[in-house]
Amino acid sequence: MLDIYSKLNDMKRVAILGSTGSIGQNTLKVIAALNKEPVDSRGKTGGFRVVALSANSNSDILLRQAKQFNPKWICLVQEASAKRAAAKVSSRCRVLSKEEGLRDLIRHSNADIVVLAISGANALMPLIECIKMKKRIILANKEAMVIAGPMIMKLAKKHKVEILPVDSEQSAIWQCLDGKEKKQLRKVYLTASGGPFKNHNPRQLRRISIRNVLKHPRWNMGRRISVDSATLMNKGLEIIEAMCLFGLDLSQIEIVIHPEAVIHSMVEFIDGVILAQIAITDMRIPIQYALTYPRRRPNKIRHLDFFKLRKMNFEKPNFKVFPCLGLAIEAAEKGATMPCVLNAADEIAVEAFLNRRINFTDIPGIIEQVMRRHKVITRPSLQDILDTDKWARKEAKILINY
Ligand code: NDP
Ligand code: MG
Repeated sequence: MLDIYSKLNDMKRVAILGSTGSIGQNTLKVIAALNKEPVDSRGKTGGFRVVALSANSNSDILLRQAKQFNPKWICLVQEASAKRAAAKVSSRCRVLSKEEGLRDLIRHSNADIVVLAISGANALMPLIECIKMKKRIILANKEAMVIAGPMIMKLAKKHKVEILPVDSEQSAIWQCLDGKEKKQLRKVYLTASGGPFKNHNPRQLRRISIRNVLKHPRWNMGRRISVDSATLMNKGLEIIEAMCLFGLDLSQIEIVIHPEAVIHSMVEFIDGVILAQIAITDMRIPIQYALTYPRRRPNKIRHLDFFKLRKMNFEKPNFKVFPCLGLAIEAAEKGATMPCVLNAADEIAVEAFLNRRINFTDIPGIIEQVMRRHKVITRPSLQDILDTDKWARKEAKILINY
C-alpha cells in the first residue's frame, strides 16, 4: 500500500482527467460529499484536494468545476477551448492545451491520485504517463486496457503502481477477490443488465433510433458507452479488461445477463463458494471505494432494499441478437493487436451511428469486416498498437464511406 494511505487524515491531492464527463462529474460529487463528512469520531476528515482537471473541449463545465474546486492546473485538449477558458479562469490557475499540455499536467500537478475518466483510446498515452510518474491510478477508462492491457500491466508492475478499477464490474471482482491468491479463484461471473434491447429480436433492432439507444434502463453514461451497452460490446470490452486487470483466462469468465443490475459481478472460488458484490446501480459507489480504498466511508447514497427488489433474474446472453459480444470474445481469444482493432472499429462505427451515417444493426458488420482484414501482430510494441489503432479506424471509415 502506498504511503499516502498510511496517514488516514492526510489530504490527498487528486487530478481528474475527463472531469466534464459522466464519471468525471460523479467523481467530483463524491469528493465534495466526502470532504463534508468527518471520517472518525474526532471529526478528522481525511479529505481530497482537487489539484488538476482536464477535458477535451467543454470549457463551460470545466470552468464551473474550476470555480468550485480551485485546481492549480486545468487542461483543455482543444486549443480554442483552452484559450476561451484562459480568459475567464482565476490567475492562480494554469491553463494548458493539446496532448502535450495534458502530459505536462500529469507530470507537474503534484497529484497523489489520478482519476482517469477520459473516454476512448485517447486515454492510452495519459495512462502510460501516469504510470511512469508513479501516480496511484483510479481507472474508469476501459479502452486503454482493452487495446494495450498486457503492456500496461507490465509497466505498472515495473513502476510499482496500483491501478484501482472503477468500472462497476471490475470494482466488484476486485472487492470479491480481496487480495486472495489467483490459484484459489475458479471463475468470474461478469454480470450485464442486457441493455435497453434485451428482449428485442433482430428485426426490431433494425428500427432503433439514437434516442432509444442513449436511454439505458439502469445506468446514465456517456454516449459511446451507452451505444456499447446497447450492442453488448461494452460487456465484450469488459471481458478483455477483466482478463488484463486480474490475469484471468478467457475460459474463467462467464457472462450472465442480470436485468436488475444489483449484482455487479461475482467470483467463484475453488471450494465452490461464490462471493457477489451487491449495491444499487450508482457509479458513485465504485468511485468512492477506489478513492477511499482500503477503507470504506459512509455516504448519503440510497442503499439497496431487498424487499423492494424482491427478485433477481439470470439469463444467458443471446449471441445471435448481439453479435458484438461474439466478436469481442474472438478478439480476446486472438489477443495481441486484435482487441485494438475491435475497439478502434467499434469507436468509428458508434460515432458513425451517432452521426446518422449507419444503422444500429450495421455496427457489428463493420467491426467484423475490419477484424477479418487485420493480420495480427504478435507481441506488439506500443508503436504497433498506435499504428494498428490508426489502421483500423481508417479501414472502418473506408467501409462506411465516412
Ligand atoms: P463521457 O463521454 O461522459 O466523458 C468523457 C470525458 O473525456 C469528458 O470529460 C471529455 O471531455 C473527455 N475527453 C474526450 N475525449 C478526450 C480526448 N481526446 N482527450 C482528453 N479528454 C477527452 O464518458 P464517460 O464518463 O461515460 O466514460 C469515461 C470512461 O469511463 C470510458 O472509457 C467509459 O467506458 C468508462 N466507464 C464509464 C462508465 C459510466 O457510467 N459512465 C461506467 C464504467 C466505465 P469533453 O467533455 O470536453 O468532451
Ligand atoms: Mg461496466
